[in-house]
Amino acid sequence: MFCNQCEQTSKGACVTVGVCGKTNEVAALQDLLTYVTKGLAMYAFEARKKDIVNQAADRFVMNALFMTLTNVNFDPLRFKDAIAEGVGLRKELQAKIGTINDEIANYEPPTNLDELITEGERVGLIANDENEDIRSLQQVLLYGLRGVAAYAHHAYILGKEDDKVYAFVHKALATIGSVTLSLDEWVALVLGCGEANLIVMELLDAGNTETFGHPVPTSVPLGHRKGKAILVSGHDLKDLLDLLKATVGKGINIYTHGEMLPAHGYPELKKYEHFYGHYGTAWQNQKKEFANFPGPILMTTNCIQEPKESYFNTIFTTGPVGWEGVRHLPNGQYEELINTALDMPGFAEDDPGQSIMCGFAHNAVLNVADQVIAGVKAGDIKHFFLVGGCDGAKAGRNYYTQLVEETPDDTVILTLGCGKFRFYDQELGDIGGIPRLLDVGQCNDAYSAVQIAVALAEAFECGVNDLPLSMVLSWYEQKAVSILLSLFHLGIKNIRLGPTLPAFITPNVLNVLVENFNIQPISTVEEDLAAMLG
Ligand code: SF4
Repeated sequence: MFCNQCEQTSKGACVTVGVCGKTNEVAALQDLLTYVTKGLAMYAFEARKKDIVNQAADRFVMNALFMTLTNVNFDPLRFKDAIAEGVGLRKELQAKIGTINDEIANYEPPTNLDELITEGERVGLIANDENEDIRSLQQVLLYGLRGVAAYAHHAYILGKEDDKVYAFVHKALATIGSVTLSLDEWVALVLGCGEANLIVMELLDAGNTETFGHPVPTSVPLGHRKGKAILVSGHDLKDLLDLLKATVGKGINIYTHGEMLPAHGYPELKKYEHFYGHYGTAWQNQKKEFANFPGPILMTTNCIQEPKESYFNTIFTTGPVGWEGVRHLPNGQYEELINTALDMPGFAEDDPGQSIMCGFAHNAVLNVADQVIAGVKAGDIKHFFLVGGCDGAKAGRNYYTQLVEETPDDTVILTLGCGKFRFYDQELGDIGGIPRLLDVGQCNDAYSAVQIAVALAEAFECGVNDLPLSMVLSWYEQKAVSILLSLFHLGIKNIRLGPTLPAFITPNVLNVLVENFNIQPISTVEEDLAAMLG
């Protein structure tokens, strides 16, 4: 295996087993699924030119890419099924438009699992080994597409799709193997991925707010309430809603974990009396935190880690998530999960613990825009920081805690993603009634942060790059790659990125990013704060 798609990778690439728990077999099956998906995309790309669209193929491509995102699916049989489904969909398109002259497009996989693994090892992930910069750009594009696909999948579940996104993803996958593209053509494709991601984040924002209402500032207990309990992790609010509906009157309290925390701010979710609080912190702490939770756990999207024996039989997956041997439930069908909760002890007593605030998405912040603008004009607010992104297990992430702790009292910090668990419970006070720490939401709510930044720029009649705003991002996996590409597409510069730069970025590709966007690796808190506030 060769995988270097996430920040956790060991010494430049995981080559025998993934730090995430991905085996050589699963890595090979993921690579083969990617290969088959590229072939399907080639047919979908050509079919679209003839106004032939296959909705099942469009959605399959997104689901297949999502399944290969870090910490989503580790179940070999799910990949075997997906490979067969992808080939079947390709043949439907082939029957309509005729055969394309391309080896990948017409690939015929074996049906036996062992042979599929051998084939996955043979085809690998990225065909071009000769030019490391092209390979790097191919990887940036592919990983960006995986992020786009994840958000597109979240949006699709809420009834939001856009043909422009499908068309771009097919074109990009059909082109990604090319060795003849110029650097300008590569840059256009990569920025196009950022544009597609902006569209899907906007779709997802519309899906979330139309279905669940605009988030409102909400106090969330970090403790627990006496009684039976279910813990929901991942990003999919629709799964959470279905579970809340299915548990009404059953005496089960529902808790969020990791990226599900912002769900507490949505009116159509928070109205459920048994939707209680948030348990635990970010994904990389799940083994310890899940082991201590006295009820079952539902993983709706990334990030799942190898379940410990103590909770292997009480963790469930749904949607694109999978772990070999773990019970997988179709979306919305939670009877087994609920029965497991009723059989487990739950919490023996009330202990509400500390509370934190969430729900400061674009609508909530823009409702007090006049106050924020007046605060800036009066000199009470001197600077804004966006400190967001993914959390992770590697050393160096205390930088983000220390950075937030050391920001001056006349600054406001917007945060999003699970990186906030490094400082989410800090009591930073307020400036004229505006909390200094504003939780905008999940990683996909980067869209919300962009809306806030654009509104501020309009109010001050300047560009986003001219605002007293510094972006300090933490990355871990491919959703972060797609968000970075969206920020580049918007022309946003001077982003600081850490804790380390992606292993798949070569020095030459990094130079292009530095020249065009002045992206910088994080340094020390002292140096970075001085530069950002200087
Ligand atoms: S996803 Fe990350 S940790 Fe897992 S195999 Fe790939 S690079 Fe390694």
